[in-house]
Amino acid sequence: MDASRRSLRTLLDSFAALVFPSDCRICGNPLLRLARLPVCDQCLSSLLPADVIACSVCGEILAPAAVEFSSLCGLCQRAHPRFDFAVSFSGYDGKLRRLLHLFKYEQLRPAANVLGRKLAEAIARREIADSQPLLLVPVPLHRSKRRQRGFNQSELLARIALRHLERSKFALHAGNLRRVRATVSQTGLTRHQRRENVRGAFVVSAPERVRDRSVIVVDDVYTTGTTLNECARVLRAAGAKHVVVATVARVYRSVAEIAPAKLQQEGKPAGAWQAATAE
Ligand SMILES: [Zn+2]
Ligand SMILES: [Zn+2]
Repeated sequence: MDASRRSLRTLLDSFAALVFPSDCRICGNPLLRLARLPVCDQCLSSLLPADVIACSVCGEILAPAAVEFSSLCGLCQRAHPRFDFAVSFSGYDGKLRRLLHLFKYEQLRPAANVLGRKLAEAIARREIADSQPLLLVPVPLHRSKRRQRGFNQSELLARIALRHLERSKFALHAGNLRRVRATVSQTGLTRHQRRENVRGAFVVSAPERVRDRSVIVVDDVYTTGTTLNECARVLRAAGAKHVVVATVARVYRSVAEIAPAKLQQEGKPAGAWQAATAE
């Protein structure tokens, strides 16, 4: 579909949503008022920040028993990621997960307004001191993927987040980090395979524009962190002095690791969990 037909469809969809109130796309209850985003107020107000004890670097949930010994998860203790730290608004589950799916896969763009604001909340939670504005760098899509989806969800989220952040302290920096190689889906790959899959996929076109700057790499979901870590590696190699990662949601690995055993007890293969949690 070309751009003009797509925008016409978006226009017609918005018009239809205004004229015919539908059901909430998350809980299914009838919507009481007309809105561009067909999600009820109750669902929206239930999107709360994560209340977990997390690894101070990658944001993974820490077991209460482990907190006494370290503020880092096992993975970060073994090898510090290439980014300084990662922040997320909340866990990738429940209604937040559903809203992210509506946004990314069902092209429900008004969802970006809610999700972008949550992203800004996550970013504002931890201070990064710098005299120059912090650069928000969206994780780029390969041009074939961008054409297919019609938009880059990370860039849209970064743009909205910017509206809710202190204007003098942040700036959008899109287009400099580029994805030069299309990668296969990371779903079902081992950690090592994931690393191999993204190696060499990103380049910084103009390194001088990020040299000695603090950068915030923005994406919708932190899954294993492999892609974000590779982006951080490339930005650091280009001279960025600080690289932080910010996502709307995060997959808590400890939950995912418990699940296969639980599923196996129920006689289901571990793959069923992977399929259920696939992006
Ligand atoms: Zn609802
Ligand atoms: Zn960690």
